Amino acid sequence: MKHVVVVGGGVAGLETASILVSMGYQVTLVEKEDVPGGHVKRWHALFPDVRPAAEVLAAILEKSEKGIRMQYNTEITSIQHRSNRYALVASNGWQVEADAVVLATGFELFDARKKEEYGYGIYDNVITSADLEDMFIAGKGIHTLQDKAPQRVGFVHCVGSRDEKAGNLYCSKVCCITAVKQAIEVKQQLPQTEIFCFYMDLRMFGRHYEELYKEAQEKYAIQFIRGRLSEASEDKEHRVVLKVEDTLLNKPLKIAVDLLVLMSGMVASKQTQAFRDELGMTKDEDNFLKPVDGILHSNLSGVEGVFFSGTCSGPKNVADSLADARSAALAVDKYLK
Ligand code: SF4
Repeated sequence: MKHVVVVGGGVAGLETASILVSMGYQVTLVEKEDVPGGHVKRWHALFPDVRPAAEVLAAILEKSEKGIRMQYNTEITSIQHRSNRYALVASNGWQVEADAVVLATGFELFDARKKEEYGYGIYDNVITSADLEDMFIAGKGIHTLQDKAPQRVGFVHCVGSRDEKAGNLYCSKVCCITAVKQAIEVKQQLPQTEIFCFYMDLRMFGRHYEELYKEAQEKYAIQFIRGRLSEASEDKEHRVVLKVEDTLLNKPLKIAVDLLVLMSGMVASKQTQAFRDELGMTKDEDNFLKPVDGILHSNLSGVEGVFFSGTCSGPKNVADSLADARSAALAVDKYLK
């Protein structure tokens, strides 16, 4: 029986692995953490229908529990091609051989500390979108570091994306709609709280995204201000004072919020970049993996027997990652046959 190794146990890796098992392949899924689920397990609810992420993950895991050999706490550090087979070696010394390898190594969130002027890691009440999801999951209410319910919350779009200074010119695709979803969730918990979203352009490309954005304005009175945050500082009450250029009204704006949420974008994971260099795969200008053909062969790496699944080849939402994962399984099947 042909053996496929899937590197990465996020939703894309799990989906590709479970389909390959159903096709009759022997599949080993290697995950560096002690549990599967990747970023989705850290998310409280998914856009645009605010469906619990745990529910989606449970459905994917239920399928994947059947027949996949799971190898946790194992980080693959080297993949070498040896006469039609691949030898994979992990940092803990674990080794395996495969007839085909699927890279489902995902993404990392942009490190918001690199945008020093926004104050993440410096001021008490500057958090990221992922920190806000942690707060939703903890279920103790939205609060400042001083344990107060915020009266004003700001969301800053495009943190580490579409940003020449950060070196990332691409759009991360999911953070506009995530900001809208999170703003609504905050408003549902704290109806009296004023919420501001600071954006450059709003990219509501997906099905029902536009409707959610409209609902955010009309039902929840969330204010969308077109303008880029130039600087954040902290006052004596630990509020975050923002300097923003309102690019629609063409005037500078100064506003204090009790909590500032930075919408960190997606960046290529270090593991993805290391494999790309080791296997000699083509580098895209944004550091994600570049397929042979982005339209016709989006899962083919250009290296025989190595395939992409999910966000290792660029930003995607959960639904698109799963669709890509299924297409990766078909590409592997075609290759092995
Ligand atoms: S999805 Fe929105 S917030 Fe995210 S990078 Fe694109 S424009 Fe910016």
